[in-house]
Amino acid sequence: MTESAALEAASSFEDLDLSREILQAVTELGYTTPTPIQKQAIPLVLSGRDLLAQAQTGTGKTAAFALPLLQRIQPHANTSTSPARHPVRALVLAPTRELAIQVHDSVVAYSRYLPLRSTVVYGGVGMDTQEAALRNGVEILVATPGRLLDHAGNKTLQLNQVQFLVLDEADRMLDMGFLPDLKRILALLPKQRQTLLFSATFSDEITRLAQNYLSNPLKVEVARRNTAAETVEQVVHKVREDDKLDALLDVVRARGLPQALVFTRTKISADKLGRRLQRRGVDVAVIHGDKAQVDRITALDGFKQGRVKLLVATDIAARGLDIAELPCVINFELPYSPEDYVHRIGRTGRAGASGLAISLVSPEEEKLLAGVERFINRSLTVSPLPRPEPPPRASVPQEAQTLSGPVRQRLAPRQVCALLLPPVQRKDSAGES
Ligand code: AMP
Repeated sequence: MTESAALEAASSFEDLDLSREILQAVTELGYTTPTPIQKQAIPLVLSGRDLLAQAQTGTGKTAAFALPLLQRIQPHANTSTSPARHPVRALVLAPTRELAIQVHDSVVAYSRYLPLRSTVVYGGVGMDTQEAALRNGVEILVATPGRLLDHAGNKTLQLNQVQFLVLDEADRMLDMGFLPDLKRILALLPKQRQTLLFSATFSDEITRLAQNYLSNPLKVEVARRNTAAETVEQVVHKVREDDKLDALLDVVRARGLPQALVFTRTKISADKLGRRLQRRGVDVAVIHGDKAQVDRITALDGFKQGRVKLLVATDIAARGLDIAELPCVINFELPYSPEDYVHRIGRTGRAGASGLAISLVSPEEEKLLAGVERFINRSLTVSPLPRPEPPPRASVPQEAQTLSGPVRQRLAPRQVCALLLPPVQRKDSAGES
């Protein structure tokens, strides 16, 4: 065993002083070893210190704050039906609705053996159901900033007993212009509290936020921001802009990809790509900031359940999405910011699994590619576009032929679903520009 392997093995969740109920939930989720951010953050949060943590989605940061917070709230757990016995004790703020939902799902999973209540509130949907949950009382509230203020303004929500505040993906909250909302929320909270700030990057703005609202925080840093760039297999195909749709379908088919998350730069190009793929008969869904919340949730559920083969997303919509075992990310368009490239490819190859990121780069995007290479400090190999298997011979029933012989033997069971994509049609006549 190497020294680092020995160190890893030495640390288990049992070593982290977590309660029996929390350990049981974690074990049932299949977590055996705490991730580096969990090893570092859990003892510090349990000791009551404020925390300034640099960690991206995929590092296990949610459990890093949620497990010790649950443990600290556990003494207040009770089964009383009185709302007064269930004041909000922990508030978690997240930049996007999807991230808020995801964090809340994790809180629910981690607290399944504790009589603690939690809920999530976010914009884009009616207030009524959320108000009812808040009126009943919850110990843990996960929220996006705007909607939280709406509820606070309506007096459906009291925040004067909040002991713990988590700012999740604080850098993205600032990028999205939430600073004024954050300040208003912070003014509603007791001064005496424990504050945990998680951010993928530490900009000057984040440092200022921490100076103003955290008390003598400990700094924890787990992964350099280009870690994903080092572990994910990255492939570049040079493609003319007009040929990108065919190239995308070729890549999916030739690699036998069961599913992929496909990025565009703008909402308009996401919608356009969605329409073009639909016309090609692909099971596709699109998420971006202008989509109704219910559509975003339906799209994400469809993708998680495998009904949706290609999920087209913009950077902000995809930020923080946790989709287990996402095998591949495809950059249909490179982002303007190299940091977004790293965030995008960080969606694949989670928790040590190998990931694949494919970029379709047009001549107009050469400069963006150079920017990415500078940022991740390595040059990316350009590969020729793979060509999919030729279509099966007409004399054999198509289904039998597609799933037989050498092709079938080469494919993992999951990859067989890729063959459920409709046959490649070149340049359909539906007029898609
Ligand atoms: P997060 O960075 O919080 O979004 O977590 C990324 C993924 O890792 C989620 O699917 C978690 O359920 C999973 N995860 C978190 N901690 C562990 C762990 N210690 N062992 C295995 N998986 C984990």
